[in-house]
Amino acid sequence: MEFRAVRGMKDILPEQAVRWQRLEATIRSVVERYGFGEVRTTVIEATELFVRQVGEGTDIVEKEMYSFERHGDALTVRPEGTAGVARAYVQHALQAREPVTRWYYLGPMFRAERPAKGRFRQFYQAGCEHFGDPGPLCDAEMIGMAAEVLQALGLRDFAVHVSSLGSGDARARFREALRAHFEPLRAELSADSQRRLDSNPLRILDSKDERDREAIARAPSLLGLLGGEDARHFEDLRRYLGALGIAPVIDATLVRGLDYYTRTVFELRATAGELGAQDALLGGGRYDGMVQGLGGPAVPAIGFAMGLERILSLLEEGPPASGPDCYLAPLCEAGRARALVLGKELRTAGLRCELDGRGLSLRAMLRRANALGSRLCLLVGEEEIGRAVITVKDLARHEQVEIPWEQAAETLARRLASSPAPAANAARAPGEADEA
Ligand code: AMP
Repeated sequence: MEFRAVRGMKDILPEQAVRWQRLEATIRSVVERYGFGEVRTTVIEATELFVRQVGEGTDIVEKEMYSFERHGDALTVRPEGTAGVARAYVQHALQAREPVTRWYYLGPMFRAERPAKGRFRQFYQAGCEHFGDPGPLCDAEMIGMAAEVLQALGLRDFAVHVSSLGSGDARARFREALRAHFEPLRAELSADSQRRLDSNPLRILDSKDERDREAIARAPSLLGLLGGEDARHFEDLRRYLGALGIAPVIDATLVRGLDYYTRTVFELRATAGELGAQDALLGGGRYDGMVQGLGGPAVPAIGFAMGLERILSLLEEGPPASGPDCYLAPLCEAGRARALVLGKELRTAGLRCELDGRGLSLRAMLRRANALGSRLCLLVGEEEIGRAVITVKDLARHEQVEIPWEQAAETLARRLASSPAPAANAARAPGEADEA
């Protein structure tokens, strides 16, 4: 029987993982400058958490969750990050410790969606959540930060879509207005949308089904129904975004696929590249009711999550991982033990070493050292052991020297610091910024 990764899920091998590490380092460095600290919540949560917070009528809860029962508990492998982060915020009573909390997370999410380009069943998200500030300034700063993350990664071709879902009354009025609009068109709608007309008409606006397109285009806009504080919040948000030089697309059809949002919602969408319908790079919004809904105090919150596969698909390949500093090539049995110990000493001194223990010919080991892009190849044979030396083949400079076993690490480190990296390897200097 041949095992393969589960459909819609992918392995990330080391040569690709380098790109992921760079991406993640850039995200961390930008959001940490804004005061966000990393939170690592559990990957499995009570199913009820998502049913209640993400919402019963949503695609995620209706058909995409990996849920199971164990020892009488109904559990779900997280389909998104916000509900778990809010759960942790309430559980650890963060509001009692600090008035404002800024958290970010990075990790895999799981949704049994139909796999497509840019849509996976296990995918990675980085997300930020900001608790304790209800104001539009906070919304604008967060949207600006999201744009800055994309820019720091080298992305220029994206558009900022914003809208407001209002709160309380406006939301209820909108639901009724949508029902009144779609009801006469019921027969023309897709089966999903017909069902949602009864359960959650807002969801219809999210539909990508061709049959729903026209009816959606003519649907009333919630923005027109916003009143009082909701309207002011949205106006202020637009003004602050303007101050940041962001000209958003005001997009009344933006409802996002989750139920918990109130007021501000936003998406940053790719405007170039091959993502097609899957062009949303990140999405988020305000969820002022969630903390209270989870049994906590009335703490407002806003957050977003970005899809790392989609972002990576738009980035250049970048330089490959650099090869080892030293390739250890023992030439006899005694040399094998000596190379084993030498490797340990060199690594302790901070050098990256690979030991070839396969007992191959010198030629074969040199070929491997070159293929890896190693800078030095260290030969340890009978000759060398007899005289307590190591033969160093400098693969970048194409020269060969002998160095004494004593203080080999210092001698090699000095040589590495002064010699160029081999061209094929294009290794980055240690400490060089990790930003793509
Ligand atoms: P959401 O949690 O649905 O608001 O999605 C936030 C972001 O996560 C999206 O803008 C995508 O970039 C990414 N995303 C969501 N679902 C998937 C998926 N199935 N596969 C890959 N990326 C996804």
